[in-house]
Amino acid sequence: MPRPILATIHTEALRHNLARMRRAAGDSRVWGIVKANAYGHGIERVFDGLRAVDGFALLDLQEAQRVRALGWRGPILLLEGVFEARDLELCSRLNIWHAVHCDQQIDMLAMHKTHQPHRVFLKMNSGMNRLGFTPARLRAAWSRLDALPQVDEISLMTHFSDADGPRGIGHQMQVFAETTRDLPGERSLSNSAAALLHGDEPGVRADWIRPGIAIYGSSPDFPVHDIAHWDLRPTMTLASRIIGVQDLAAGESVGYGSSFTADVPLRIGVVACGYADGYPRHCTTGTPVLVEGVRTRMVGRVSMDMITVDLTPVPDAGFGSEVTLWGRGPGGAVLPIDEVAHAAGTVGYELMCAVAPRVPVVVGE
Ligand SMILES: *Cc1c(COP(=O)(O)O)cnc(C)c1O
Repeated sequence: MPRPILATIHTEALRHNLARMRRAAGDSRVWGIVKANAYGHGIERVFDGLRAVDGFALLDLQEAQRVRALGWRGPILLLEGVFEARDLELCSRLNIWHAVHCDQQIDMLAMHKTHQPHRVFLKMNSGMNRLGFTPARLRAAWSRLDALPQVDEISLMTHFSDADGPRGIGHQMQVFAETTRDLPGERSLSNSAAALLHGDEPGVRADWIRPGIAIYGSSPDFPVHDIAHWDLRPTMTLASRIIGVQDLAAGESVGYGSSFTADVPLRIGVVACGYADGYPRHCTTGTPVLVEGVRTRMVGRVSMDMITVDLTPVPDAGFGSEVTLWGRGPGGAVLPIDEVAHAAGTVGYELMCAVAPRVPVVVGE
């Protein structure tokens, strides 16, 4: 028997969340972001739930090939563009659009031999200061691209650093609008947070939005708003079972470092899930968990293969009881991944991307 841990990908929830982001997009088109193997879900596993997108955006040419292999003939965008010259051959062959964020990428394009001119997304650095041309250098880059026979259509993109926070997107919107005012071409600006929190502001939706995390059922501005507020549903459930029970007397401790000590007699369930499955070791006593769909708390430290949970709210639970680490539990219970991430001092993105290879994954409703 394999260990009882299992991840389930919810196709219907992916469909629902994508429809939700379409509402946020208004008349704009929607890139479904499937980088990092569809945020840890698996590109092949999300494809059916996301086939209503207008295009798939990702970082890795191998992932782009996998999307084409699934039969997708629509747009695919490489969000960081190419990493070396020969990547352009595959872009030509598979008709993959790509970002252009630096002069070296333009140099590679200028040397590239193709009969198939490329559609490129010229990336502007409007203040995030990772990738892209600064306002001072954007127009020169645009003119260089415009003069290349290898380039067909030039679109414009930028990325927001603070769409989910108090600083907001106003300063970057202004820099982008001023710099690109008289340049032709489609525009793409907004990630999930910008589309949900700022979508009603002029120009924010532009021609394409680029939602990732919201499609995967995590709130971009948790804990300010949770997924219920945004009408999003979990797309991944991580579930396991209780494989042992301990009755602690008051004063007894559980786990490494004896970091949790019971102050009253306590029934403890031992769950087959640990940090080697991708459950964050930073979670401490109090992290929410569902047992048979009932909310309770983790106690003590996360071990490599086990965690321990307080069974007080579920007196009937015992060996074999179902445990939901995040996602959907029995009886319609939901434990958003954001709550577990928050308890670990991180974000839902990291948890869903980090489910370990040893965890079996199935696609379900
Ligand atoms: C990852 C990414 C997105 C999606 O961001 P979310 O916060 O997951 O919605 C959008 N644009 C770019 C350039 C990205 O790298």
